[in-house]
Amino acid sequence: MLKLIKNGEIYGPEYLGKKDLLIVGNKIGYLAPEIKVPDDFVEIEVIDATDKLVVPGFIDSHVHILGGGGEGSYKTRTPEIQLTDITTAGVTTVIGCLGTDGTTRSMESLLAKARGLEEEGITTYIYTGSYRVPVRTLTGDIQDDLILIDKIIGVGEIALSDHRSSQPTVEDLAKIAAASRVGGILSGKAGIINIHVGDGQRKLDYLEEIISTTEIPISQFLPTHINRNQELFKAGIEYAKKGGFVDLTSSIDSTVSGSALSCSQGLKEMLAAGVSIDNITFSSDGQGSLPVFDEKGQFLGLGVGKLDSLFAEVRKSVNNEGIPLADALKVITSNPARILKLENKGVIKENKDADLVLLKKDTLEIETVIALGKVMIQNKEIKVKGTFQ
Ligand code: ZN
Repeated sequence: MLKLIKNGEIYGPEYLGKKDLLIVGNKIGYLAPEIKVPDDFVEIEVIDATDKLVVPGFIDSHVHILGGGGEGSYKTRTPEIQLTDITTAGVTTVIGCLGTDGTTRSMESLLAKARGLEEEGITTYIYTGSYRVPVRTLTGDIQDDLILIDKIIGVGEIALSDHRSSQPTVEDLAKIAAASRVGGILSGKAGIINIHVGDGQRKLDYLEEIISTTEIPISQFLPTHINRNQELFKAGIEYAKKGGFVDLTSSIDSTVSGSALSCSQGLKEMLAAGVSIDNITFSSDGQGSLPVFDEKGQFLGLGVGKLDSLFAEVRKSVNNEGIPLADALKVITSNPARILKLENKGVIKENKDADLVLLKKDTLEIETVIALGKVMIQNKEIKVKGTFQ
């Protein structure tokens, strides 16, 4: 019930100094310069965080938890994710999505997988739909999905500017955004539309057009894979400067595509170009396939996106790009929590969920991971495994 994390330096994600942190059940109970435990007190587990940094559990807003891929025929469908693929990466909240394949992967299975992971100890949400338009939902209607299904917090990933996209019109997309926005308003959710942006020439044009010709605000969209090539990245900078959110994919780097930027390089360049850190998020695209195509759209080969790339890119942002840790952490903690309206997530504050990661101070290695007050990883040792692991 009670766990006391002693002597850690807290980044919540802003620097809060050296503090003790008391976990009560699944919540952060108290945060104080020193919390002393009387000898005759009830049982309390003390976790020593000397020489460690205590940071919020990470949020990965784009994970193919059910598996994805299949772009090189059936044998290339990626497997379902396992609990420790998530927790060893320091991730305590995932947002699951389908992908290119909305036929053999269904919303019913995605919801069941999300519920399964939650039973195993982490927090999960999902987007309704896949790449394809019309959106194949759970209830038959986007707005109904948001209002009636707790786990559904938005729509996505809808594919644009990609040869695998279902080629929706601007009007198709505006209608989807409207349904997600109203569903979100009526259910107290973000109603975000997560947009997969491909390598196509139209880049973010459709979003720009919807924003300039309808009443839908720019904050309704979270386009992802913005670091996949230089031209899209430049368009992403202009889009973010207008107030849009941009998501960079941590499993993409120059080994996936020659003109891609890593997330850490992308973060550095965006900040230098004047984009607010508050508008930038990272996600892993974990467990999706990473198909590589030639310029004629011919499939060349593929790999699987890993969640551990998420914090690896934050660490590189600090160690290689000189971005302060308190800023770099935002892109996987408080920013996605705010954008996706996950009110108990992404910050270290009293009464918020006890999702925490302990990092080694000098190397920023992930040592201990706590999800909803439960120790999942302790000193790099897996304490909680998935049901079939
Ligand atoms: Zn995608």
